[in-house]
Amino acid sequence: MTDCLFCRMVAGEIPADVVHQTDRVLAFRDINPQAPTHVLVIPKEHHPTIGALAAADPALLGEVVSGAHAVALQEGLVTDGGAEPGYRVVTNTGPQAGQTVHHVHLHVLGGRGLGWPPG
Ligand code: 5GP
Ligand code: ZN
Repeated sequence: MTDCLFCRMVAGEIPADVVHQTDRVLAFRDINPQAPTHVLVIPKEHHPTIGALAAADPALLGEVVSGAHAVALQEGLVTDGGAEPGYRVVTNTGPQAGQTVHHVHLHVLGGRGLGWPPG
């Protein structure tokens, strides 16, 4: 039994509103959405941060990024080969960036105008 929230979602112990998955990647809606589309994309294997994942398994990091783009296509945030209307991918590392779940996840945000720079 793990105490990692996202590992427990991968294991099916906690429900997830899954929108996309592969054998190694899971994408599900954020419980507290910050935009009309707010999906979290994770590797099914536990890695705490994007840097740890890049060091341990760069191919898997590529699969997670591809998963984020697949979600954006599926949600109508871009068209195949296009970049409109658009979307944002964010990953927070550490307390100053606001990381609260220590299983790496890409936030896929879209469906409204997104300010830049972020707060
Ligand atoms: P972080 O702050 O680590 O970058 O992002 C963690 C995200 O996980 C937050 O956006 C938060 O709303 C989301 N989250 C926390 N608990 C749950 C949960 O039980 N289910 C889902 N779907 N999202 C969660
Ligand atoms: Zn985990």
